[in-house]
Amino acid sequence: MVKQKKRKKYIFVVGGVMSGVGKGITASAIGRIIKSRGFEVTAIKVDPYINVDAGTMNPIEHGEVFVLDDGDETDQDMGNYERFLNINLSSDNYMTTGRVYQSVINKERNLEYKGKCVEVVPHIPMEIISRIKKASKKDGADVTIIEVGGTVGEYQNILFLEAARMMKVKNPDDVLFVLVSYVPIPSKVGEMKTKPTQYASRTLNAAGIQADIIVARSSKELDDIRKDKIAKSCSVDKKSVISAPDVESIYYVPLNFEKYELSNTILKKLNLRAKKKDFKEWKKFTQNIEKAKKEVKIGIVGKYFKSGDFVLSDAYISVIEAIKHSAFNKGLKPVIDWLDSEEYKKNPKKLKELNKYDGIVVPGGFGTRGVEGKINVARYCRENKIPYLGLCYGMQIAVVEYARNVLKLEDVHTVEMKKNATHKVIDILPEQRKKVKNKEYGGSMRLGLYATNIKKGTQAFDAYKTEIVEERHRHRYEVNSDYVEQLEKAGLVFSGKSPSGNLMEIMELPKKEHPFYLATQFHPEFLSKPLATHPLFDAFIKIASK
Ligand code: GLN
Repeated sequence: MVKQKKRKKYIFVVGGVMSGVGKGITASAIGRIIKSRGFEVTAIKVDPYINVDAGTMNPIEHGEVFVLDDGDETDQDMGNYERFLNINLSSDNYMTTGRVYQSVINKERNLEYKGKCVEVVPHIPMEIISRIKKASKKDGADVTIIEVGGTVGEYQNILFLEAARMMKVKNPDDVLFVLVSYVPIPSKVGEMKTKPTQYASRTLNAAGIQADIIVARSSKELDDIRKDKIAKSCSVDKKSVISAPDVESIYYVPLNFEKYELSNTILKKLNLRAKKKDFKEWKKFTQNIEKAKKEVKIGIVGKYFKSGDFVLSDAYISVIEAIKHSAFNKGLKPVIDWLDSEEYKKNPKKLKELNKYDGIVVPGGFGTRGVEGKINVARYCRENKIPYLGLCYGMQIAVVEYARNVLKLEDVHTVEMKKNATHKVIDILPEQRKKVKNKEYGGSMRLGLYATNIKKGTQAFDAYKTEIVEERHRHRYEVNSDYVEQLEKAGLVFSGKSPSGNLMEIMELPKKEHPFYLATQFHPEFLSKPLATHPLFDAFIKIASK
């Protein structure tokens, strides 16, 4: 008998009614439950914008730029997939309209379409399909989850939906559609309204797609009457209408889905036989969240929080999640405050308020706004022995602070802030100088995984317990090697250096001087996962909680 090739399965997750209803978490949670049934799962994010990647976008507008091992600058949802699926993804798992068009145009220029007229349809959807299949193959996935950004009914994502439709027509048993919808409860009416979901489902129909599963997001649990209504009007069976009320923690979502046996429903529809059912590890993590009582209070000092009248934390999502992972796994309840860095320049008296925190994080950032405030925070934490974790810019400003206030140098800065400072303790990386001069900004920073050698006997070594680590980077500036000797003589410890020894990757104060004052040029937050917490965040949280 000829052995039949295993058929690859694809689940498209699309959004209806409005943005921000939690498509990314839904896609990630579906991935987690399918994985728990014994399948290899991978995920792809489709962003409908023209930008080739997320790297050139303002974090206030777009949220965090999530960096992958291979240096791709992507959407924050990629972080959710990695965290829920406990895997590392690559640039094959991310696409934008810009990226798709760019490769179609390149292929056309190389005569790869063999003289044909290259058209928006079918060539763009075909390129999308070939990218989906490539990622699925590379990751060896049985099931590939594809989240289509945007909302059904808008112009932007229509070619991605067309690609999905084409895949469904070709292999109806291998492709499944999940519509994530929103069910509002208008305060004046006091009743759950399903009409927007009905419209969203019909709009999807207009693109030639029928939802197989509807995830109904709402502030409350969906009752039987509304479930029935959605099922009947959207042509899905009642079991395939999943109630997804707001939850305390996003990590509860997979198990909530399983309350309705969602993995069984999906596997049945995709004609897959489950190999096992193993939610043990995930359950253990969520139980830690439930049990956590003792608080650990962390302040994040940033500048990408304010958006008009609203305060957003999206720009620092991986930092926030990394803190939570480490805290929960130590049985602690993280209490996180967003602190506006500009306040600490305008009003230095405010620095005293930092005493009420068990630890302070100064995360990454770009440009000049808010930087002097961060420098004041770094100084205050150093002098008052408040546990401090600096990430990227948070390390650079700590070095500036040390050179100013311990080395007592005059006119010290990073050249990102002051081009003609007398002491440029943070300078531009040599290969970056040309790029900036030529205005080559897209995808051009020092990006992705690079190795760091860890010095024994340091906080960093205590945390990692190993001599070489690889971490994800995203920066143009670095500690100026002309100052390393002076800084080290004055007491600063560079506990992590690039293998060549010329790039400073981790700085810290000696353990006997400060309980925890450590900062990294790289971004450890991008590698923290619920089932694989990050050693540096673990160490920081452990000491903060004492
Ligand atoms: N702006 C700094 C640099 O480019 C820090 C970057 C960051 O924090 N990600 O080096």
